[in-house]
Amino acid sequence: MATRVVDGAAVARRVRDAVAEQVRAAWPDPGRAPALATVLVGDAPASAVYVAGKRKAVREAGLGDVHRALPATATQADVAATLDGLAADPGVAGILLQLPLPPGLDAAALIERIPPGKDVDGLTTTSAGLLAQAKPGLRPCTPSGVVALLDDAGVRLAGARAVVVGRSDLVGRPLAQLLLQRDATVTVAHSRTRDLAAVTRTADILVVAAGVPGLVGAEHVAPGAVVVDVGIHRTEGGLTGDVRRAELTGVAALVTPVPGGVGPMTIAMLLANTLAAATARSDGAGE
Ligand code: NAP
Repeated sequence: MATRVVDGAAVARRVRDAVAEQVRAAWPDPGRAPALATVLVGDAPASAVYVAGKRKAVREAGLGDVHRALPATATQADVAATLDGLAADPGVAGILLQLPLPPGLDAAALIERIPPGKDVDGLTTTSAGLLAQAKPGLRPCTPSGVVALLDDAGVRLAGARAVVVGRSDLVGRPLAQLLLQRDATVTVAHSRTRDLAAVTRTADILVVAAGVPGLVGAEHVAPGAVVVDVGIHRTEGGLTGDVRRAELTGVAALVTPVPGGVGPMTIAMLLANTLAAATARSDGAGE
């Protein structure tokens, strides 16, 4: 069997171009374009790199770039006040609180200060509830990027047996909901799952978001399955994922690479969410 390797960077580029075109059409005066506000607390190098990448993408899309940097010594009240200010700012369409936060800060409580209409990461309890009930709302970026990749590749979700490895609030849990909403038959595996390989071999579509380098190999994959690798790990040899991709050549029908698979889609969906949040507001449907 030929194994197709999906080009996530190319799909992400198309999504980003489409967002940029819609922003230009809706806000011809770039000075009036709605903004994404990024909030970075502390100086963790990885977080700084992620935020810089997101801000660059925001500017390229023609959206406004609002940034708040707080020191690692910032208190819960400091971060809360920053978020409240952005929540009240009519020029800000979306708010992204970069995680993880420095120790001592309660991330869950701070996330809840983001109004659901500006929750472009889809992480508030309200956004999660809307997703769980299949009601319109902003969806977490990485899971919606996975679904967009599958759609772009022409993978049929309705009726497919999908196995998601991982149940985090950020990836696994919302992804399972999105796949269910698209009429897949969904199984969620996690660290307490017995005989993971037996479970994953039932999958037509296997999405691995465990955060364990090389967790999944040929023994986990049924012939002809579609395998999406969400994991990202920095190693001396570069970025790797949760899947031993080389083993899947000739086994899987389709695989996503790391880097160049799901990663670029996450930023693309953040832009799409910011546009959606801005559009909902200008339609009067926002908060
Ligand atoms: P997380 O919060 O650590 O969650 C990991 C999940 O995997 C948990 O539900 C855990 O189960 C499960 N798990 C851990 N070890 C397992 C094992 N041996 N077998 C089966 N399940 C196992 O991680 P996350 O935030 O979801 O991220 C997952 C990975 O995706 C990480 O590598 C992260 O860097 C990457 N990521 C990539 C992007 C992107 O843009 N491409 C975005 C976000 C995250 P329990 O619930 O039982 O503990």
